Amino acid sequence: MGKMKEIFIEQQEELAYRGAHDAMIHGLARQACEEFITEGETPCPNCFEVELVRNETEAECTKCGQGFVYIDNALRFK
Ligand SMILES: [Zn+2]
Repeated sequence: MGKMKEIFIEQQEELAYRGAHDAMIHGLARQACEEFITEGETPCPNCFEVELVRNETEAECTKCGQGFVYIDNALRFK
């Protein structure tokens, strides 16, 4: 009886640990999405250099420093 209870508690602790671990991984994944990556194709609408970096919602020109937001997949000046 006592042993069963110990095992039960261990399982609960393991589940709690895994839950925290998953949350941490998801947190890291979300952080990675927000990182800017080189766009590489679209010229900057401001200085026309292909120097844009982007994440899911925003872009920035590394040449002139102009920031943009993506609206319906089109670049808009910030
Ligand atoms: Zn630019």
